[in-house]
Amino acid sequence: MDLNIELKDLSLNLELKPLEVVELNLSLDETKSLTGRSESEEEKRIKKYVRDNSNSTFSFSRMNFNCEYEYYLTYQKNNRGKDNIYSIMGSLCHDINEKYYHSQISKEDALKEFIEKFDNIGIYGVEFPSEKAGKNYRECLTQYYTNIERPKNLFVTREENNQDLVEANLKTEEFLWKIFEFGKSNIKIGTYGYADLIHYETRLIDGKEELFYIIGDFKTSSKNDYLGKKQNEKGRQLVIYAEMLNNIISGGDLFKQTPNIELYWNMLKYCNLTINYKVDKLKYLNELKLSDLKSLMPKYNSEFTGKLKKDFVAELMNYDIETESKTIYNEGIERNTIAERLKKIFGNNIGNYENSLDLNDLPEHIKNSIKVEDYRITYDYDNTTRLDLYKWMLEQYYKINEMIDMDKFEPTKLGEWYCLNLCGHKHNCQSYKDYKKKLDEETVNAINAIKMEL
Ligand code: SF4
Repeated sequence: MDLNIELKDLSLNLELKPLEVVELNLSLDETKSLTGRSESEEEKRIKKYVRDNSNSTFSFSRMNFNCEYEYYLTYQKNNRGKDNIYSIMGSLCHDINEKYYHSQISKEDALKEFIEKFDNIGIYGVEFPSEKAGKNYRECLTQYYTNIERPKNLFVTREENNQDLVEANLKTEEFLWKIFEFGKSNIKIGTYGYADLIHYETRLIDGKEELFYIIGDFKTSSKNDYLGKKQNEKGRQLVIYAEMLNNIISGGDLFKQTPNIELYWNMLKYCNLTINYKVDKLKYLNELKLSDLKSLMPKYNSEFTGKLKKDFVAELMNYDIETESKTIYNEGIERNTIAERLKKIFGNNIGNYENSLDLNDLPEHIKNSIKVEDYRITYDYDNTTRLDLYKWMLEQYYKINEMIDMDKFEPTKLGEWYCLNLCGHKHNCQSYKDYKKKLDEETVNAINAIKMEL
């Protein structure tokens, strides 16, 4: 199996061409939701077309399986297993966001629905790995839903006046599909899925209007995997959406594909917090040299000659002294740390915010000094990430077929964090049961040994 492929080896010409005018014909069924998605006739027809015209059809999650034995149970035995706490909460939050973005529910309803769903999550028979993880999740998402805003300009978040933005439009849960073709091998892999959010923007580039497509994916999990070594692994999901979107906007014509696709994850538990503040007067004065303090005194009188610095500071505290302004930019902080950060700068008086988590309940001077924005991690859509996706898809295709051919599915994640906390097949997996039994016995023996020593 030669996986040492280059872009030129694929039948696709992946050289990105400038955007040509393309008729957009994307449908949005606003009644769809992740927790009870209705499938339109058009979607059924496309799915059949994809299946009939490819060697295999895989969803991204099927290709991106965790453990071989989990794959076997889920896709060979058609046993979906149990969802885990993060996938359930993630789906519920996606559903709330979609309704809110389409003005089907108010901000208050969005918060109420999140709290209700979170507090009743037990009905799904799942729980957070630890009490602390659950508490943190609830606090951060409560802050998010208390202050949720419909995005006006999703992507250019740090510019007040984005003069280049001509027009913007938003779609959620957009159905996308593509048949990926791998030239040399003649393999065709069909895939389809739903993008959480697609933002269409017309921007002025060198005086010319150009259409940009921004694909967003909501994440309620930890940001670590999306920043570190695993980013590339995670990013493939966004790149596959981009490839599918490109397939649709170009009507399958490779020369009409656009490079104007931008990708990001919106990490709901986190935010960017900017705090502008005036430095505390006493601290500011204490840090100045005696000569500077003298120059600040409105009427320096000889009475102060020979006095100590502390006397100058004490005198100057009676005057209206302009202090230095500072800005602190906190990127990607957990939302439940906002109160504590504000207290460090502004003292304990942060109004009713701590109880309500509503930023409108902050005293006016604090509210005017801060900016809380969604935390988005961007991912590149270029020939490097595209090639990585194509190579990986082919690799997974061979791997899956090999497992099926040999009827060999190993518990490849046994004992890892995913296996112990998230896998929905623990109750079906004998390897896990044996492993857990051994682990429990070892724990009991260790406790008994400690008791004996005491
Ligand atoms: S419980 Fe662990 S070993 Fe078993 S299928 Fe799941 S991840 Fe694999």
